[in-house]
Amino acid sequence: MKVHEVIELVEDYGANTTLGDLARSIQKEKIYKCPKCHGTGKVSVRYNAYPSGLPDSGFVEDWKYKDIECDLCHGEGYTEHEYKPRMIQDGWE
Ligand SMILES: [Zn+2]
Repeated sequence: MKVHEVIELVEDYGANTTLGDLARSIQKEKIYKCPKCHGTGKVSVRYNAYPSGLPDSGFVEDWKYKDIECDLCHGEGYTEHEYKPRMIQDGWE
């Protein structure tokens, strides 16, 4: 968290607002921890880091992981809807 973000929070919510008040205010109805990212707002995806466009592309693989914003909770970490994994691991409902 950056200094200017904290200052903006104080301006928006007042200096006497506790972090607990702030969390409740922002969280609102989003009371369910996102099962996909486990509340972090980020998920790790595997991708082929080998540059495309080279003669070897398509044959050479350089698998790496990177964090992207969780698409189930839109990076919030919590959702209004309680998602449960389906029995078959192909998505969320
Ligand atoms: Zn999520």
